[in-house]
Amino acid sequence: MVRVLITDPVDDYIVNTLRSRGFNIDYRPGITQEELLKVVGDYELLIVRGRTKVTREVIDRATRLRVIARAGVGLDNIDVEYARSRGIEVLNAPEGSTQSVAELVIGFMVMAARLLTLQDRLVKAGEWPKGKYMGMELFGKTLGIIGFGRIGQRVAEIARAMGMNVVAHDIVDISRRAQELGVKPVSLEELLRTSDVITIHVSLTPSARHMIGEREFSIMKNGVIIINTSRGEVIDTKALLNALNTGKVAAAALDVLEHEPPREPWERELVNHPRVIVTPHIGAETVEAQRRIAEILTEKIIRFFDEHR
Ligand code: NAD
Repeated sequence: MVRVLITDPVDDYIVNTLRSRGFNIDYRPGITQEELLKVVGDYELLIVRGRTKVTREVIDRATRLRVIARAGVGLDNIDVEYARSRGIEVLNAPEGSTQSVAELVIGFMVMAARLLTLQDRLVKAGEWPKGKYMGMELFGKTLGIIGFGRIGQRVAEIARAMGMNVVAHDIVDISRRAQELGVKPVSLEELLRTSDVITIHVSLTPSARHMIGEREFSIMKNGVIIINTSRGEVIDTKALLNALNTGKVAAAALDVLEHEPPREPWERELVNHPRVIVTPHIGAETVEAQRRIAEILTEKIIRFFDEHR
């Protein structure tokens, strides 16, 4: 019987399906890192989301481990290279949350263009700020998409249907998909100079860390809207705060931060900024995304153990 440790909250489907297939599951969401180090040596399969840090130390203690399964997309909490060097398979379900993240981005765009959270807060505080803030339509505006993978492409499709012009930049050749979706492939420089709204969808590669900083903000249009649902490290937080304070950036909507939850004083200042909308990394937190991720991941796990008896 395969012994399984689950260390973050996952959809019931994973637990129920694997149990019905005879997997022996210990469900311990919220387990501490110290406790994980103590017990991980007993298991062949470890299932995590983003919270559990599967470090070298954890992998060194996991002497029986055959598979690490990430119920989601990002693998930045797992030392994938080290795990694979020890013969441990790493599985994830990157396609499961694409639609949910794309819908969040569209919501963010509308909210930021009309400063919805600010208006809502003021009315609740007893004010009636009609006429105080002028919003912006998205129709006819240019959306710049940095990172034209699964989510970037889905956002492009919906934004095109809303009447936006879409330009995109990626480090790989995107010309064929761009043409199919009516999107113009451009350099990063051109995207930064011409976009009214910029949304970031890169994977966190070393080249993506702080790829949006002082210089990049300086060449953007005045009054640009910034959306980030990828990884917080992609944007230099201090540079974004500065760009909001000078008015270069009209509004920002962020589902991800450099530290989650925010801990540095400038990060607190950023999340409390009136023209910043912030959510606690909820891109994939929909019933549908979690179920899709669970189904995809469970199928991959079952296939792995069937093929490697
Ligand atoms: P993907 O791998 O399909 O696409 C990422 C794209 O970014 C690729 O085309 C890649 O070539 C490109 N890229 C990488 N580095 C780049 C750079 N420096 N400049 C330009 N392009 C670059 O990934 P995806 O499924 O579309 O996910 C995109 C991002 O969203 C990832 O960072 C992922 O972790 C994140 N994500 C967040 C949530 C959330 O809850 N907010 C949920 C799912 C995914």
